[in-house]
Amino acid sequence: MAIVVQKYGGSSVGTIEKIKNVAQTVVRRKQAGDDVIVVVSAMGDTTDDLIGLANEVTSNPDKRELDALLSTGEMMSSALLAMAIKASDYDAISYTAYQIGIKTTGQHGKSLIDDIDGENIKKSLSEGKIVIVAGFQGINEEGHITTLGRGGSDTTAVAIAVKLDGICEIYTDVDGIYSVDPRKYKDAKKLDEIDYEEMLELSSLGAQVMHSRSIELGQKYNIPIYVGLSNSDIKGTVIKGVNNMNMESKPVTGLATSDDDVAITIRDIESDINTVSSLFESVASKRINIDMISQTAPVNNRVNLSFTIPKVDLSECLEIIKPFYLEENQIAIDQDITKFSVVGIGMKTTSGVASKMFKLLSQNDIGVKMITTSEIRITCAIKQKDKVKAINVIASEFNL
Ligand code: ADP
Ligand code: ASP
Ligand code: MG
Repeated sequence: MAIVVQKYGGSSVGTIEKIKNVAQTVVRRKQAGDDVIVVVSAMGDTTDDLIGLANEVTSNPDKRELDALLSTGEMMSSALLAMAIKASDYDAISYTAYQIGIKTTGQHGKSLIDDIDGENIKKSLSEGKIVIVAGFQGINEEGHITTLGRGGSDTTAVAIAVKLDGICEIYTDVDGIYSVDPRKYKDAKKLDEIDYEEMLELSSLGAQVMHSRSIELGQKYNIPIYVGLSNSDIKGTVIKGVNNMNMESKPVTGLATSDDDVAITIRDIESDINTVSSLFESVASKRINIDMISQTAPVNNRVNLSFTIPKVDLSECLEIIKPFYLEENQIAIDQDITKFSVVGIGMKTTSGVASKMFKLLSQNDIGVKMITTSEIRITCAIKQKDKVKAINVIASEFNL
């Protein structure tokens, strides 16, 4: 008998019919002899709808109250799933983050799970109950409700699996992890397994199939994460450590794109490492994630500095960087950015991936605005109109 933590995403619990289907699947797992904990997302587009309501009230909703509002989506679906299970004569109980002590730190809207009490979950399991947990939410040091960032229910599930030493299964509307988002490239190939590091890069670079923090936790505690289609036996993908993997000798495993970033350029600032580092420190202190950075060669000790950040953080970031320039015309904002990335641990040992990629982009008249690389990824910023062409060219040449 194992402890199994299953997570069902928004589209898998999008209607009452779907909630009833999930209830049946969960009950079958319980009948097979496992202790089952189910983490749920909000139904369908509920979170977007709630954000819409908040924006009708004000263009800049208070972050504490926004979290209080958004957390209601998962409370609703968890209670409905518990009801559906109980209606089929199995015992179940739904819990909010407060009731099972999911403690968070950090800011509203992007908080981190610090610890989970877990005692209530254990007690309910020992009473034979199926435990349903509202995903995406936590309680911070001040006792306020926080949320974990969009897609955060994956992280709730992995964190509970870590705490209870359980098996973690993420069920969604796609039957596994593909080399490219199958909605963006129809010939994408399903992967049997993928390394934590690769998945972490892909999810941070736009593959929204998994919340990147969930992969960090899986990797830290070495918990394999299974990703598969809801209510189906089709074999999905296991995210796990490379040492346990049948390595294929492919330099590139996957490709991800994101239109969620914006590039900021500050023109004509002093070429001084202290200025640059204190600018980036100020931005990082607000947990705004800077990804690509480029700087022009100094002329009269002055440089232009460009970097990308998530669009959602633009207004906050512009406030933070104000002390670093004198005039408004020193700032340029480029919203026409697609971050285009290829990822693969095979790149550690294979050379020539970057040169092949840039050659293919240039042969297809795709201009590159910025570039950044790590040992296992190459990212370039391109124009949004070139995205589809770039995906098709690169995915087919790298056999993704
Ligand atoms: P859920 O609501 O279940 O959390 P998400 O919408 O967050 O589901 O994630 C599932 C979606 O992720 C899929 O519908 C798919 O289009 C998208 N996706 C992006 N990249 C990938 C990828 N590499 N492999 C599979 N799915 C991907
Ligand atoms: N409901 C939240 C969202 O839409 C969290 C999640 O689905 O994981 O982002
Ligand atoms: Mg998701």
